Amino acid sequence: MSKPLPNASDFLPGPVLLLGAPGVGKGTQAKLLMEEFNIPQISTGDILRAIKNDPAKAATPEGSMAKSLMDSGQLVPDTLVNALVAERLTHPDTEHGYILDGFPRTLNQAEWLDTQLVAYLLPVVAVNISVPQQVLLERITGRRCCPVCGTIYNLYTQPPKSDNACDFGHGQLEQRQDDTEEVFHERMKAFEEKTSAVIEYYREHGNRFAEVNGDQDVAAVTQSIRSTLLKLRHHPENS
Ligand code: AMP
Repeated sequence: MSKPLPNASDFLPGPVLLLGAPGVGKGTQAKLLMEEFNIPQISTGDILRAIKNDPAKAATPEGSMAKSLMDSGQLVPDTLVNALVAERLTHPDTEHGYILDGFPRTLNQAEWLDTQLVAYLLPVVAVNISVPQQVLLERITGRRCCPVCGTIYNLYTQPPKSDNACDFGHGQLEQRQDDTEEVFHERMKAFEEKTSAVIEYYREHGNRFAEVNGDQDVAAVTQSIRSTLLKLRHHPENS
């Protein structure tokens, strides 16, 4: 007889990867899961944007290279991103798990991550969020973020209560520099050329991989990811 699934409250998430094309909702979902499971979200995009927005760091050769690649929708070199993730994984808040959002994006990053995780208490599980490509452009161009609390809105599907202002009183929302139609096409190209192979890499590890339909409202996607994670961790190889 199979064991019953654990409740979310007594569940150890371990390392979780959220995969998917730009705009599928990785950041939105990672923030919700982070609160629920009390583990950090590690977004390589957010880490890189913090470098880009820090005048001292942005002025370094690495910082200015990262800025120009990000602004044109291309991937930042693996060596730089891997080093940023390696540093973040030394923080004690990652001990019981974390949600990697936007990493790995190349096969090289995925293989590097495997070498980092050999000594970790649980193997990584990967959830691919899929959304039809025609929906993604609207999500990207409608996206607005609060620069203070990081809440993500969408002008078409999840608008703020009052015009372009954060619902939590933090002032004006911002649009990411790379959330334009032109840069979106470059980001999709990078996804198809490099990141889709990463999804196949994890798909081959069937017991550690699952697909979730991201073309539903935010709460329904969270619910699907939650039950998918419980099932993946219920598998004897992953618990
Ligand atoms: P995101 O916020 O995840 O959409 O990332 C924004 C941009 O940061 C991407 O378009 C890339 O230029 C860069 N970036 C984020 N994560 C990675 C990664 N894992 N590898 C390479 N570049 C990345």
